[in-house]
Amino acid sequence: MAHRNVLIAGAGIAGPALAYWLHRRGLAATVVERAPAVREGGQTVDLRGAGRTVARRMGLERALQAHATREEGIRFVDRADRVKAVFSSGAFGGQGPVAELEILRADLSRLLYEETRPYTEYLFADEITELSQGDERVRVTFRGGAERDFDLVVAADGARSRTRDLVFGDAADTRPVGLTAAYFTIPGEPRDGRWARWYNAPEGRVVTLRPDNRGTTRASLSFLSPPRGDEQHEKLVPEAQKALLHRVFRAAGWETARVLAAMDTAPDLYLDRVSQVRMPRWSHGRVAVLGDAGYCPSPLSGMGTTLAFTGAYVLAGELAHHAHHEQAFTRYEEVLRPYAERAQDLPPGVPRIAVPRTRAGIRTLHLVLRAAARPRVAGQLNRFLVPPADTFALPSYSL
Ligand SMILES: Cc1cc2nc3c(=O)[nH]c(=O)nc-3n(C[C@H](O)[C@H](O)[C@H](O)COP(=O)(O)OP(=O)(O)OC[C@H]3O[C@@H](n4cnc5c(N)ncnc54)[C@H](O)[C@@H]3O)c2cc1C
Repeated sequence: MAHRNVLIAGAGIAGPALAYWLHRRGLAATVVERAPAVREGGQTVDLRGAGRTVARRMGLERALQAHATREEGIRFVDRADRVKAVFSSGAFGGQGPVAELEILRADLSRLLYEETRPYTEYLFADEITELSQGDERVRVTFRGGAERDFDLVVAADGARSRTRDLVFGDAADTRPVGLTAAYFTIPGEPRDGRWARWYNAPEGRVVTLRPDNRGTTRASLSFLSPPRGDEQHEKLVPEAQKALLHRVFRAAGWETARVLAAMDTAPDLYLDRVSQVRMPRWSHGRVAVLGDAGYCPSPLSGMGTTLAFTGAYVLAGELAHHAHHEQAFTRYEEVLRPYAERAQDLPPGVPRIAVPRTRAGIRTLHLVLRAAARPRVAGQLNRFLVPPADTFALPSYSL
């Protein structure tokens, strides 16, 4: 095979999943991760449809179930914690707002790392700083100073991929969807129970609390922020981000005071402008993009992890079936792009529709959500509540 050794940037979800599938197809992978270890933090991610099938084919189903957060569903509540609408995790065939299989992102990432480390070279606390493509190989310079040659390089280093930008320049279109979101872990309280709770406060603010499987609670604070605005809150230092969140969420009501107080000592605050990534081509010479680095659909889609899994499966399958990397990369894109585009096609009005500015808007949202629980109406609201995870038939790449 022409492409025996593949360098992958990013040990998140897509990177280790690709290392797994390359190994299954007889190819070797090196993974370079900028962080000093597999990253903790983040909330739950869901594996749906084709992503779940890939996980099953990896033999991971039981391990995933063992780590599942087992939320019973989601309750939309008002300022006094009165339930205004409910979706159980089984609603919409297990594919609704809370999927049947929800797992902490950190657990999934660690699981994939443990699974692949026996046969994968992992380089932590390092990253690619230079890449030069020759006819036969790619010469890579690492921040640590090493220089090495690889047959192929895959950028799987997330929505703000630096590796992608080194190769594709400004071809990647990173589009903010109009929401800034902060995630962090806070001490659990008995009243957090086993249900996710979602609270809309006026002026386009949302607070969510989700019980995890470690006795702690995952909190998020999100607020509308104009997609074309130039405030770059994600670039502020954590103390300045906390001050901003205190300002934006002042007097928001419900459990917000508890959440803000706990945020001040949270070990893992992560704030970002929620964005999508679109690219005119997914490869350039011997370099391809994978997962959020190439086609991030944003957490609003509920499809990021599913795309990372299916992308890894398809890319490895095509590489094993084509001696020429150009053919493999072209097929990878032909097969997966339509699915990625469906995942990125957020319903009209999202996120504004789920994050109203006024009290009247919040009342309307609750009415619509309540109606969605009725089977006849649910069909019409599928587009808003059920991601298109089942719209992709996985190719079967025989070994
Ligand atoms: C800390 C964190 C928390 C998240 N929390 C959530 C969440 O709560 N809900 C949700 O839906 N999605 C969340 N996501 C995004 C989610 O993981 C992805 O949408 C999805 O799983 C696709 O994964 P990915 O591997 O493509 O990207 P990611 O999961 O973003 O992984 C990218 C990896 O690349 C590493 N990296 C970054 N730059 C470089 C570089 N230059 N060189 C080498 N490595 C680099 C990062 O440290 C990370 O480990 C989070 C991502 C991160 C990094």
